[in-house]
Amino acid sequence: QESVLEVNGVKKHYHVKAGMFKPDATVKALDGVSFKLEKGKTLAVVGESGCGKSTLARVLTMIETPTAGELCFDGKDILSLGKDAAKALRQKIQIIFQNPYGSLNPRKKVGTILEEPLVINSDMSKAERKQKALAMLAKVGLRPEHYDRYPHMFSGGQRQRIAIARGLMLDPKVVVADEPVSALDVSVQAQVLNLMMDLQDEMGLSYIFISHDLSVVEHIADEVMVMYLGKAVEYASCEELFANPKHPYTQALLSSTPRLDPSHRREKIKLEGELPSPLNPPKGCAFHARCRYANERCNKEQPSLVSEANAQVACFAREEGRIA
Ligand code: SF4
Ligand code: MG
Repeated sequence: QESVLEVNGVKKHYHVKAGMFKPDATVKALDGVSFKLEKGKTLAVVGESGCGKSTLARVLTMIETPTAGELCFDGKDILSLGKDAAKALRQKIQIIFQNPYGSLNPRKKVGTILEEPLVINSDMSKAERKQKALAMLAKVGLRPEHYDRYPHMFSGGQRQRIAIARGLMLDPKVVVADEPVSALDVSVQAQVLNLMMDLQDEMGLSYIFISHDLSVVEHIADEVMVMYLGKAVEYASCEELFANPKHPYTQALLSSTPRLDPSHRREKIKLEGELPSPLNPPKGCAFHARCRYANERCNKEQPSLVSEANAQVACFAREEGRIA
């Protein structure tokens, strides 16, 4: 399989200066994340808020520069390229944000919003830009007359269609979607997800789909990476992850997700406590305070991802055969 994006050991560490009551500290928002995204596929990145998934989205789209690691797009490391070459590649990776209300400028007409990326990044004429914007409106299920309207005249679902259209104006290969449907009514979510899947087929797009909602992820993903405190704890095909979750954290997340199919009902595992602060991360496995399989080793050492037949899992209990 051809991979369009390959991410190797990406880190984003922030230095936090000492305050009156606190010493200097390093926040490891992303701490060595690696994955491959295949052409035309969807990788979902899941975890609680604070796990690093939004930082990952900002790093992948170069809104923030990673502290370490490689971002290889079509085999070239974006971070090691010169400014102009990097800029050209960056256009191929676009982001769609969660909030369709906040991300569209209320003072600009839809046509202007859609054409903005072309004004900045292409040498198209005004007429060509308009033609492209109208074609994109049609692709996302909106009408030509919407071109001259303002964002407040649209419903939440329509606004997210506009945001998707804007994200596609530069013909990206990869779209990073950060919780693209979580601000929408449940009844509208499926429509927007189906639109995204249709566009994926039609335009050969690859998606990084950031979400905390596992029922949405099950619907749309090909592969899933589960993150906890800046690290991947499990990485598997969507089918495998939902049929046979292996990491205790994944098991707990899945057990609290409502399932329609009663044959898939799970024992409810209560996730005790909260995500630890990345300012003061626990020693050993970051999940140990909440894990029912934790032992002495888990309090001292950090597990790393180990490949199994159908997945990669970072857990000592799994490595030692203490959990099946
Ligand atoms: Fe639990 Fe230990 Fe596995 Fe961490 S390494 S998830 S604490 S069993
Ligand atoms: Mg977030």
